Amino acid sequence: MKEIFLLKLGEIVLKGANKRQFENRLRQNVRRRMKAYGNFDVFIMQSTVYVEPMDDECDVDGAWEACRSIFGVVSLCRCRPCEKNLDAIFEAVENYLGDDLDCARTFKVESRRSDKRFPLTSIQLSQEIGGRLAEAHSTVEVDVHKPEYTVYVEIRDLAAYVHGPAVPGAGGLPTGVGGRAMCLLSGGIDSPVAAHMIAKRGVEIEAVHFFSYPYTSQLAKDKVIELARLVSKYCGKMTVNVVSFTEIQEAIRDNCPEEYFTLIMRRFMMEISARIAKWDGCGALITGENLGQVASQTMEAMTVTGAVVDIPIFMPLVGMDKEEIVTIARKIGTFDTAVLPYEDCCTVFTPKHPKTKPTLGQVINAEKKLDREALIAKALESVEKIKVTYDDEPYL
Ligand code: ATP
Ligand code: MG
Repeated sequence: MKEIFLLKLGEIVLKGANKRQFENRLRQNVRRRMKAYGNFDVFIMQSTVYVEPMDDECDVDGAWEACRSIFGVVSLCRCRPCEKNLDAIFEAVENYLGDDLDCARTFKVESRRSDKRFPLTSIQLSQEIGGRLAEAHSTVEVDVHKPEYTVYVEIRDLAAYVHGPAVPGAGGLPTGVGGRAMCLLSGGIDSPVAAHMIAKRGVEIEAVHFFSYPYTSQLAKDKVIELARLVSKYCGKMTVNVVSFTEIQEAIRDNCPEEYFTLIMRRFMMEISARIAKWDGCGALITGENLGQVASQTMEAMTVTGAVVDIPIFMPLVGMDKEEIVTIARKIGTFDTAVLPYEDCCTVFTPKHPKTKPTLGQVINAEKKLDREALIAKALESVEKIKVTYDDEPYL
């Protein structure tokens, strides 16, 4: 019989009245992600998502990798279904897990029985299968306290399932149950991590990138698209809004006092992002800001840059050390791309002595020569929308 995946739900199980809605969303997300890997049947029973390949053409390993990055799944395992009787279960364990068992010195069998009509209790079932396995594998001994390997048997409604140890899933909540937010995505280490952290809480992510050609190169833009692709491994898909930012930066350089350049530029970024966010149904912005990391990330600077926006700005990294952020970037696979050395528009026209404790009044005064509304309107006209998915998954 073929192999199937069981995906165990995380926090969703606790969600009372919303449980059905959460489960439906997760099933929809898994179905969508599986499309790129062939014909899979995906359904939910007993707080578990079943992912079953329907023919031999399915890319089972690719699908398995994809399942490991779907939010809302706390752990998952590949398993072999079989009939709900002792001989069939023993045979399934032998054929499916026999080699793994032979690599260990000690083992135990752990059983769970959600179909209470099954005639043996979980303990009796474990003892029976464990005894037969110990007889068949003379080099392996039973150790119920600290086994090197554990065989799991689950008696569920449809069938019995046997598997080895489960692996951790991506955790979090299913993408889409928490609304949608717009991440200001630079080419740096921080913002992809910030996007991932908010996405993990069930939020669909869109991105906006400010691009200052020719001060920043096509390579810098390609890098941001690649980072969006890497993050969409977890959140499924992403639209990257690329905004041409050159004219605004030049206007700031030509009309504003140098010490305020970065602050004014960031106020434009926030305002433009919030407008695109509203068009696209996003309820919040996300940035990779981190307290004290650079001059524009003091409390005073954040007050000034946040003042142009009337939706929440999520800064999930605000209290983290760089080391901690780098650890996550490595874990989610964005680090190596993020450190490629291309300029970001933030490093164009950087003031020698940036203002670290600005007041709102000072900044409004410093930008008074600019026609903000006209500059913003023009930038909004320049928006290029790029749809990104991981691998060849369809953008649905
Ligand atoms: P990152 O590593 O994410 O680039 P950073 O530590 O370099 O962050 P800044 O360059 O000050 O910090 O940027 C702070 C935040 O502003 C970024 O995390 C990102 O959310 C946003 N940001 C900066 N530059 C851009 C850009 N060109 N396009 C979109 N968002 C940007
Ligand atoms: Mg940066």
